[in-house]
Amino acid sequence: MSKPILVVGGGPAGLSAAHSLACVGQKVVLVEKEDTLGGAPILSGYSKLVPSGEWAKDAIGSMVERVVKNKLIKIHTGVSVKEFSGKPGNFKAELSDGKKITAGSTILCTGFTHFDSINKPEWGFGSFPDVVTTTQVEQMISSGQGVRRPSNGEKPKRVAILLCVGSRDRQIGREWCSKICCSVSAKMGMEIREELPDCHVYVYYMDIRTFGLYEEMYWKSQEEFKVKYIKARIAEVTSDGDKVIVKGEDTLVKRPITIPFDMVVHAIGMDPNVDNMLISSIFGVDLHNWGFLDQQNMYGTAGATSREGVFVAGAATGPETIDDSIAQGSAAAMSALASVGANLTTKTAAK
Ligand SMILES: Cc1cc2nc3c(=O)[nH]c(=O)nc-3n(C[C@H](O)[C@H](O)[C@H](O)COP(=O)(O)OP(=O)(O)OC[C@H]3O[C@@H](n4cnc5c(N)ncnc54)[C@H](O)[C@@H]3O)c2cc1C
Ligand code: SF4
Repeated sequence: MSKPILVVGGGPAGLSAAHSLACVGQKVVLVEKEDTLGGAPILSGYSKLVPSGEWAKDAIGSMVERVVKNKLIKIHTGVSVKEFSGKPGNFKAELSDGKKITAGSTILCTGFTHFDSINKPEWGFGSFPDVVTTTQVEQMISSGQGVRRPSNGEKPKRVAILLCVGSRDRQIGREWCSKICCSVSAKMGMEIREELPDCHVYVYYMDIRTFGLYEEMYWKSQEEFKVKYIKARIAEVTSDGDKVIVKGEDTLVKRPITIPFDMVVHAIGMDPNVDNMLISSIFGVDLHNWGFLDQQNMYGTAGATSREGVFVAGAATGPETIDDSIAQGSAAAMSALASVGANLTTKTAAK
């Protein structure tokens, strides 16, 4: 176990991988391109997480803290891996600041990129200030500012949350379901109603995918918080100069709808990390045809990629929740350890 294991990306998956490795006495080098650890929940200022209801800064903050305090984990922030070569048991990486690292194996935890709603122009983002994204509302709540109309700073009285923005949309090349945005929207509806009891919140959906235990959020949001759900196909979002107007079809009653709101929220999806082409070429790993990092031998070796000794975990593999990203980080840590161990055993056997 003399060479460290390189973990790339310091979000929930990377923090979990690094912590799991250090727990069994394995040295780790953690490389994060931003100046701050924590990944999307910290960098994008999420508010309360689903399904736990814990504040992101507390839940993920404690994961960051235990990694920062661990002497077996050497952390490099504000840098990325520029060059990567070698074989399992003896990889060499050069960082963007010129530092050189040797590693027994590597785990890629490079995460995802939030869908940019500008790529869905007919739904009004970028044209009307009161059309915002779930990440913007998360930030309004987590900063303590509260949910306000960006156009005039007033408390909204009617909010629409539009689901599947940048997901399940073949027209814009995003076929995947982003898995978490139905649950995040149900939670956000409750947060808005809690802060602004006079505000009516409507969720416009194709179908609701609050999978497994997350279904609890769906029922709670309706029964306790009176969030309303409308099955609809949205055609466009326009404005009359004050209100933002949602136009489409109520697909249950098959009638056209034109409804004014004070704010419209896009429940944005999870895109592949914009740097995945570069990551794929630096680390010599294949991409899935949708642009995420491809997993191989899914039922054999957790987190295996197309390159031996290089593993992947979390939202780098496709849309994932935080708890699944954490589980995958630990699982990939086991695979990375086993790969180093396998090499040590081979070396010992060869002596
Ligand atoms: C609006 C929204 C709200 C959400 N809320 C919840 C929620 O309440 N509960 C839940 O379970 N899930 C939620 N999610 C999903 C959650 O964001 C992901 O599950 C989680 O962030 C995945 O963790 P990760 O570590 O795999 O990736 P990320 O969080 O994306 O972390 C990846 C890290 O790698 C770094 N990185 C990227 N490329 C490089 C590189 N080349 N070199 C070095 N570092 C790199 C990034 O800077 C980042 O720090 C939400 C998603 C969205 C879009
Ligand atoms: S989780 Fe819900 S909002 Fe997100 S893409 Fe899937 S169906 Fe759409």
